[in-house]
Amino acid sequence: MAEVLVYVDHVDGAVRKPTLELLTLARRIGEPVAVALGAGAENTAAALAEHGAVKVLTADAPEFAEYLVVPKVDALQAAYDAVSPAAVLVPSSAEGKEIAARLAVRIGSGIITDAVDLEVGDEGPVATQSAFAASFTTKSRVSKGTPVITVKPNSAAVEAAPAAGAVEALPVTFSALATGTKVTSRTPRESTGRPELTEAAIVVSGGRGVNGAENFGIIEALADSLGAAVGASRAAVDAGWYPHSNQVGQTGKSVSPQLYIANGISGAIQHRAGMQTSKTIVAVNKDAEAPIFDLVDYGVVGDLFQVVPQLTEEVNSR
Ligand code: FAD
Repeated sequence: MAEVLVYVDHVDGAVRKPTLELLTLARRIGEPVAVALGAGAENTAAALAEHGAVKVLTADAPEFAEYLVVPKVDALQAAYDAVSPAAVLVPSSAEGKEIAARLAVRIGSGIITDAVDLEVGDEGPVATQSAFAASFTTKSRVSKGTPVITVKPNSAAVEAAPAAGAVEALPVTFSALATGTKVTSRTPRESTGRPELTEAAIVVSGGRGVNGAENFGIIEALADSLGAAVGASRAAVDAGWYPHSNQVGQTGKSVSPQLYIANGISGAIQHRAGMQTSKTIVAVNKDAEAPIFDLVDYGVVGDLFQVVPQLTEEVNSR
């Protein structure tokens, strides 16, 4: 059976959920061979094996932490050369997309970014993407070289499938470019204790209707009752009510959770671009004509200051 390379996103050996989703999708195409790099890479093996990795290629070197993406591209290319895979799957983070694009250029392959699903076609993997602010979905396949595909978080339900997960050290020779851009400092963001916006299974967002930074507490309370991340429309961000890192939409983040709850958000096309692929969409808006109601699965016409606290109370009581 063909092997499929899966680039592992992990923090000190803790594998992030989008990688487990990639393993689930990779198994549709072939046998997943995972590539884990940097500090703690070897500690990823158990979780990766549990989700179907037949082999885990690991490498650690100071270059992975001290320089930007090129050392990781060098390592992924080394894995590609060693395995000759049928496809290379990479999580669709900003870093993942850069790594994937650089690898595709180096190996002379086509690339598909931000896939939301993968299936097996007669001539290789077929990826589903959403296009034109999620107004359409398209299916495409790479027609040149080995498909390099980045997949958005929450594109598949994680399924366990125990496999060997044999750990092998990956020999990497760094290219001249690898040390070209050095990381000079890192400033960790203060943790809110909530899930990362782009990876969260549930996102609760607030817009201009929230009417002030001080009122975002009710959005956060609903999010916390559901174990959700908090999102915001650009209007709320531009007003200084919530950080830009939480903005959902064309010029913010793109999310695809199981459940998206939009509160006091009108549903402008630029906001929809970042959330329209959510599996279930709920909106609370006092204007029954608000465009957001065109795309919701469940809509509540009402004042969010009444509806949201009631919803939070109901969730907390269960
Ligand atoms: P509004 O459109 O003002 O809607 C507020 C809604 O709240 C209304 O529907 C109102 O009925 C409702 N409301 C008010 N009070 C209450 C209440 N008490 N209870 C319930 N409902 C209430 N926008 C983004 O979100 N993300 C982006 O990334 C983004 N990128 C952009 C890029 C470009 C190039 C441009 C031009 C625009 C972009 N925008 C983006 C802006 C976008 O066009 C809209 O202006 C923005 O999304 C509106 O935010 P909103 O829905 O919160 O505000």
